[in-house]
Amino acid sequence: MAILVTGGAGFIGSNFVLDWLACSEELIVNFDKLTYAGNLENLKTVQKNKAHLFIQGDIKEEHVLVDLLTTHHIRAVIHFAAESHVDRSILGPEEFIQTNILGTFNLLQAVLQYCRGLQGSDKQQFRFIHVSTDEVFGSLHSNAPPFTELSLYKPNSPYSASKASSDHLVRAFYQTYGVPAIITHCSNNYGPYQVPEKLIPLCIHNALVGKAIPIYGNGQQIRDWLYVKDHCSALRCVLANGQVGESYNVGGSNEKTNCEVVKTICDILDSKQPRQDGRSYREQVIYVEDRPGHDWRYAIDASKIEKTLGWKSIETFISGIEKTVVWFLENRNWVVSSRSFSSDEKRDCYGTMELPYA
Ligand code: NAD
Repeated sequence: MAILVTGGAGFIGSNFVLDWLACSEELIVNFDKLTYAGNLENLKTVQKNKAHLFIQGDIKEEHVLVDLLTTHHIRAVIHFAAESHVDRSILGPEEFIQTNILGTFNLLQAVLQYCRGLQGSDKQQFRFIHVSTDEVFGSLHSNAPPFTELSLYKPNSPYSASKASSDHLVRAFYQTYGVPAIITHCSNNYGPYQVPEKLIPLCIHNALVGKAIPIYGNGQQIRDWLYVKDHCSALRCVLANGQVGESYNVGGSNEKTNCEVVKTICDILDSKQPRQDGRSYREQVIYVEDRPGHDWRYAIDASKIEKTLGWKSIETFISGIEKTVVWFLENRNWVVSSRSFSSDEKRDCYGTMELPYA
């Protein structure tokens, strides 16, 4: 038997594939369209591993997916594939509707068809894990309690609205057709292989090349950061022991303002790779006009997954961000290999992207 991941050449998906292959010999079929966010460089250490099969394709290709599920006798699907960048969803929402809503719908159709053909324990054990985001719950006030699994859906961006729609489809396919689905809602991830247009890699890159490090608005927006490998372990835990029809919030209780994140990165760089002029990278920080509809705060209450499944994050923000900065320092070529970087450097999100209404 085998598992199928969609979007396994992206940031979280490729970390999941690498972690999976480090602790299992079970075949992992990796289905990815290789958009600007997919990068086979992430997977080069497992290129020759027989337990990893990469197939380029689009989750809108329902028949291809049915074939894959059947041929490889798939026992579980972990669905990462998505358009995932809020800024891109503001500039061009259509691709988000296509992939996140229609793509997920087609994948669900394929899974339903496949599940109908399963018998006995294969049918009972099959799982569909839908990797969603805390952004579907909208924005929290400073003193509001963190999101729980019972929080109301209040998405504010085309990205979060498309993810919310896909969550509803997953739930409906479980309730209506019995597709054995579980939904996870995770907070902001960071770590190796994150596309260089997102806040943390962009900050590291711009600092090192002497460019301005832009922060949206006053930089007091709060995110609950989770090291990507902790997310991967949560997904393995949900796959092994999660209850069908349930959802689980995943987070590391690491609420930080964007300013704190950027200043921490500058301080780590100051000690690990000081500027030649002896000054601090903090001097490169600039404040730019805020993103439209920018959510103020996300925070996750992860007590359900902790209490019922025994999962807990390992990294603190400091330990995780140090590992991340070191990884980016040691993998400068990877940044250049990313198509997100090479094709869109002049349109990156923090500061230089030309939003039509900025
Ligand atoms: P990413 O943008 O880095 O990677 C997405 C991957 O999906 C890419 O490899 C891309 O090529 C692939 N893809 C896109 N459209 C596809 C299609 N139509 N068919 C097949 N493959 C396609 O995203 P990520 O940050 O790794 O996020 C993965 C998942 O986790 C997403 O569903 C996202 O909503 C969710 N999530 C992300 C975060 C975060 O902080 N990054 C937090 C919570 C949840």
